[in-house]
Amino acid sequence: MLNIVLFGPPGSGKGTQAENIIRKYNLKHLSTGDLLRAEIAGKTELGMRAKSIMDKGALVPDEIVIGMIEKRINAEKDPKGFIFDGFPRTVAQAESLDKMLSEKKTSITLIISLDVKRQELINRLLKRGKEQGRSDDNLETIENRIKVYENQTTPVMNYYDGQGKARYIDGMGTIEEIFKRIEKVIR
Ligand code: ADP
Repeated sequence: MLNIVLFGPPGSGKGTQAENIIRKYNLKHLSTGDLLRAEIAGKTELGMRAKSIMDKGALVPDEIVIGMIEKRINAEKDPKGFIFDGFPRTVAQAESLDKMLSEKKTSITLIISLDVKRQELINRLLKRGKEQGRSDDNLETIENRIKVYENQTTPVMNYYDGQGKARYIDGMGTIEEIFKRIEKVIR
């Protein structure tokens, strides 16, 4: 199996590039942000709990997102591989993911980190906020999400660096240029 983690700060283009990767490599896309927004849209209890946390730009508790991912992994029959987008965001999540995959006799192949300048992140997210109305794409929440990323999420990269699986990509440029860089790393 080919199991890829797409990593990077909010606005770095993980969702966009995940779409390109699944198209080319036929992988299953697992985005915890999308799964949480589906819970919110469905007005479930979990969704209601998550919404207030997400609107502040904080992290939803590990056990919630780990449970969601586990359910999705176990639901797949004979997958070619997974692309994880927005997960893991803490070292505890990364450790759980390793355990889940080893129970399936597989593991993370590669983690790709998209590197984008802070001002560009803010510009992209403000633009998305205007176009798509995502309630966490306002300046105050964006700044908190970036802070949470720097404090709580970047240690995940060190975790995979320790396993020799981390790759860093320049995430500035056009969508096509960045996808070419990603393909090269996967090859
Ligand atoms: P972005 O990467 O642009 O912040 P996401 O859709 O990945 O967008 O995440 C939106 C929000 O959902 C996060 O700010 C966080 O509150 C919550 N979230 C998503 N994935 C996780 C996760 N793995 N752990 C904890 N919270 C998460």
